[in-house]
Amino acid sequence: MNNKIIYMDYGATTPVDKDVFKEMEPYFCSFYGNPSSVSAFSLEPKMAIDKARSRVAKAINCKREEIFFTSGGTESDNWAIKGTAFAKRKSGNHIITSEIEHPAVLNTCRYLETQGFDVTYVPVKKNGMVDLDYLEKSINSKTILISIMLANNEVGTLEPIEEIGKICTEKNIAFHTDAVQAIGHINVDVQKLKVDMLSMSAHKFYGPKGIGVLYIKKGMKVDNYFHGGEQERARRAGTENTPAIVGLGKAIEKSNSSISTETVRLKSLRDKFLKEVLEIHGTSINGDLVNRIPGNSNICFHGIEAETLLMALDLRGICASVGSACSAGSLEPSHVLIAMGLSEENSRSSMRFSFGSSTSEQEVENTVKALKEIIRNIQNV
Ligand SMILES: *Cc1c(COP(=O)(O)O)cnc(C)c1O
Repeated sequence: MNNKIIYMDYGATTPVDKDVFKEMEPYFCSFYGNPSSVSAFSLEPKMAIDKARSRVAKAINCKREEIFFTSGGTESDNWAIKGTAFAKRKSGNHIITSEIEHPAVLNTCRYLETQGFDVTYVPVKKNGMVDLDYLEKSINSKTILISIMLANNEVGTLEPIEEIGKICTEKNIAFHTDAVQAIGHINVDVQKLKVDMLSMSAHKFYGPKGIGVLYIKKGMKVDNYFHGGEQERARRAGTENTPAIVGLGKAIEKSNSSISTETVRLKSLRDKFLKEVLEIHGTSINGDLVNRIPGNSNICFHGIEAETLLMALDLRGICASVGSACSAGSLEPSHVLIAMGLSEENSRSSMRFSFGSSTSEQEVENTVKALKEIIRNIQNV
């Protein structure tokens, strides 16, 4: 990586880990056989996919046959939500989600509203935690699906998935969680959380882009989303992306093996960063301080346009983000921060700094120094 760049945007995407890349490489030019062919040449790619499936199943504590490879978090969210909605249409048309979901969930639900479904968007409290009382009261006899994210991508909050899982089990409602920001960063056990479906995406945990997983608990009624060949036990058509699947398998195993050490390291870097940034006059933290993924910080610089700050940091080779990558540039204030009760102005003054594998103490210090200088310059004009 370019030495001059200070990358503080791991929440948007991560670099591919070198060991991950090494495991993927042979599947481009050497073992390129179609895993669905019958010839002996397809055996190696087929076995590699099996191995990746086992690694994922082990990582989230489920059966291998409950793992389906997709093209990423967006497809997994679309499949889980539309697939469940259409499969259960006869028993009800009500879906519950939250106001702070990723666009892959929110816009899928908005689409379903045009197809005769009713959607409740549960509000969150000031700290970014889903209002459980509101959620429970929203459930009616037509409710077929609840989709609530495990970790929020903008403020990093860890939502009360285990509690919602219990409610869904009692009321026999399908439960999906978008765990894209959580997998590889905190321990996730689908049995403990009682989720029926879970989305993940490799590029958020040091794997390649364009590959993800949808976990579907055995027995769940979910319509197929892609129609075509018989791949993935006739559940997800399309020739398997062998190198990417291999990469996802290695990435989840490697990330999971270092969760405990990385959590300690990243938390200490983040706390150091927060402590020093909060010394700047007119700053505050967005989102719950405890229930939060270790590498995330989201700060409001009151009275300063975050876009201006972002560009000034960019000129100094420091890469952070405003809102989420998906809404950045759209000039709309972050829907997540608005849902948390921030004013439009404060929402436009907020930035995310997310830390990861190669973040160092020196980088944190340099970023704080740059922030202080930039803010001083802005306030002096
Ligand atoms: C990145 C992200 C997605 C989308 O995943 P892709 O693989 O980029 O399509 C979905 N949900 C959350 C919470 C994300 O952070």
